[in-house]
Amino acid sequence: MDCIFCGIAQGSVPAALAYEGERVLAFSDLNPQAPTHLLIIPRKHYASIQDVPAEEIGIVGEIVTVAQDLARERGIWPGGYRLVVNAGQEGGQTVGHLHVHLLAGRQMHWPPG
Ligand code: 5GP
Ligand code: ZN
Repeated sequence: MDCIFCGIAQGSVPAALAYEGERVLAFSDLNPQAPTHLLIIPRKHYASIQDVPAEEIGIVGEIVTVAQDLARERGIWPGGYRLVVNAGQEGGQTVGHLHVHLLAGRQMHWPPG
């Protein structure tokens, strides 16, 4: 399968890693939209959050736990941050491997574009 984030998870595609766990990985976004812009992914390939079966949905909690840890370690909290999951074409998803964006370091606005 030709998936860039699987390549990062397997080490064949370079990335600036922020966290490496057994099931979850975090790395810097190539095109950052905030002073801190990390992508947190499961090592296992899911095409989108919609494709995570109910019996495996715990992986999403593991990703959120990694986000909390990174926010604490990097002094992002208590300032604040934004977690974003784009899903599908109208959701703005461009890479077909589930990822959670962790954005921080500037004032966020609402609604998003
Ligand atoms: P999406 O639009 O699918 O939610 O977000 C995909 C994100 O992946 C984008 O923010 C984009 O900059 C990032 N991205 C795309 N290709 C690469 C890559 O090869 N390496 C890294 N680190 N980020 C990437
Ligand atoms: Zn993948």
